[in-house]
Amino acid sequence: MSIQENLQHIKASLPEHVTLVAVSKTKPVNEIMEAYDAGQRIFGENKIQEMVDKEAQMPKDIQWHMIGHVQRNKVKYMAEFVSLIHGVDNFKLLREINKQAKKHNRTIKCLLQIKIADEDTKFGMTSQEAQQILQSDEFSELKNISIEGVMGMATFTDDEQQIKNEFDRLKSIFEALKNLDIEGSNFNTVSMGMSGDYQTAIACGSTMVRVGSSIFGERNYD
Ligand SMILES: *Cc1c(COP(=O)(O)O)cnc(C)c1O
Repeated sequence: MSIQENLQHIKASLPEHVTLVAVSKTKPVNEIMEAYDAGQRIFGENKIQEMVDKEAQMPKDIQWHMIGHVQRNKVKYMAEFVSLIHGVDNFKLLREINKQAKKHNRTIKCLLQIKIADEDTKFGMTSQEAQQILQSDEFSELKNISIEGVMGMATFTDDEQQIKNEFDRLKSIFEALKNLDIEGSNFNTVSMGMSGDYQTAIACGSTMVRVGSSIFGERNYD
């Protein structure tokens, strides 16, 4: 199937309240343009330099999401245009995002990445760490960021029940953090679900799925 057909197929299966982030990492601009021409406007990348390069070459009404691990010293390269940063996993990073957003006179939307998988390779904070950040005085001083919700990745496993448990946990962490009702936060997004597990994620309360290979085909890393 073509990129356009894949996209239409997936979009038709998503409930209206679920936002699709088309994960275009490693894919060339001409293939991303196929998705753009089919109407997709939200794209996710996991490397800042790659996202910056693509942003420069592509239409300006694209919303670029940074879905990967963010190195603090590279925030400045995307601060002018990034639409949502999914992978915020520490306070120092948040402070840097705030600083760079301020330089561009804008507010940058962020999600707190929570570690729900039982794999050491995955990034993210605990729900306690997220709560501590949100309730800290230092956080209340950051006026150029807005925390829009949480992001998480389930364990890479065939065990459906485990994946479901992890997504359920992220959803309840989202509810708990939302209920803190912190100024400078606007909890409306649960970013969970990828090509292999987005249907499960939606059943568990996802509002934003990040789908790559089911749209663009398998990635080739060499
Ligand atoms: C690559 C990636 C995805 C998309 O993965 P697919 O399995 O290709 O859909 C989603 N989220 C993150 C954080 C990723 O790095």
